[in-house]
Amino acid sequence: MNYNEILKKGENLLKKNKIKNPYLDTELILSKVINRKREEILLNIDNKLKNTDITRFKSYILRRQQKEPMAYILGYKYFWKYKFVTNKYVLIPRPDTELLIEQTLKYLPNDKSKKILDIGTGSGCIVVSVLKERPKCLATAIDISIKALNVAKTNAKLHQLENKINFINIDIDKYKSSNYDLIISNPPYVNSIDLNRLDDDIKFHEPKLALSGGSDGLKEIKKVIIKSKRLLKINGKLILEIGYKQKNISIKILKENGFYINKISKDLSRKDRCIVSTKL
Ligand code: GLN
Repeated sequence: MNYNEILKKGENLLKKNKIKNPYLDTELILSKVINRKREEILLNIDNKLKNTDITRFKSYILRRQQKEPMAYILGYKYFWKYKFVTNKYVLIPRPDTELLIEQTLKYLPNDKSKKILDIGTGSGCIVVSVLKERPKCLATAIDISIKALNVAKTNAKLHQLENKINFINIDIDKYKSSNYDLIISNPPYVNSIDLNRLDDDIKFHEPKLALSGGSDGLKEIKKVIIKSKRLLKINGKLILEIGYKQKNISIKILKENGFYINKISKDLSRKDRCIVSTKL
C-alpha cells in the first residue's frame, strides 16, 4: 500500500465515524507513523509503506475512530509558542487558556524576579509558558495527580526550565508555603450536568479530575480562592480561568475573600474566561 492509498483508507474510516477533520487527522497520523513531515508525504505520495507501519497506522486510526483526541494519539499539542507532551493523564492545553498567559505577562515586569505558584498544573503548559517569557521568575507547580505532575516535569525539561520550577505532588488543601507574588490556576470548573454534555472526545478521554468542579462546578474555584488568600503576599495577584457562566459568582467569592477585581477577559469565542484579582 502506498501513501496515497492509505490516506484514502484512513480518511474513509474516520468519515464513517463522523470525525470532524478526517483528512487532516489521517495525514497527521501517517506523518507520525513514517516519522516525516506532512509536506514530505505529498512529495512522496507513491512511496510504499512497510508492513509494520501499516499495522501502527491502523491502530492509531482505530483510536481516533473511538474519538480519542489527536493530542493523545500524537503525544503532543502546541500551546502559546511551544510544543507540550500530552497524555491521557492531563487535560489537553486549550487555545482559550492562552488568555491566562497573556494576562499574567501584563502583571509580571520583564526585569523582576517574582515568585509564582501554579495550582493544578496538569501538563505544565501554563507555568512553562510564563517562565519562558519571564526568565528571572521562579515557580512552584502543584498537582494532586502524580501522573500529571510527571508530564509537567517532562515539559519543564523539554523547555530547559527544570531548575526554575519546583514540582510538588500535593492536594491544594494541604499546601502551606506562602509569600507568592502571583498565583495562576486553571482549576476544574465544569459542573456535573455540563460534564455529561461535553463532546465524546473530551467526555470519554480527558481526565475527569481535571474537568469536574463538583455539582455546581465551583468546588475547586472556591478552594483555590480561599487558599490563595493565605498563600499570596499583600497586593499579590490571582489569575484564574473560569467557566463562562461563572463570572458573577466568582467575583462574589473573590470579594468575600478580600480580593479586588482588576479585570475580566473574554476568550476567543467572546466568553468570559479569565479573572485577574488582587489580594488586598
Ligand atoms: N475549558 C475546558 C473544557 O472545555 C474545561 C477546563 C477546566 O475545567 N478547567 O471543557
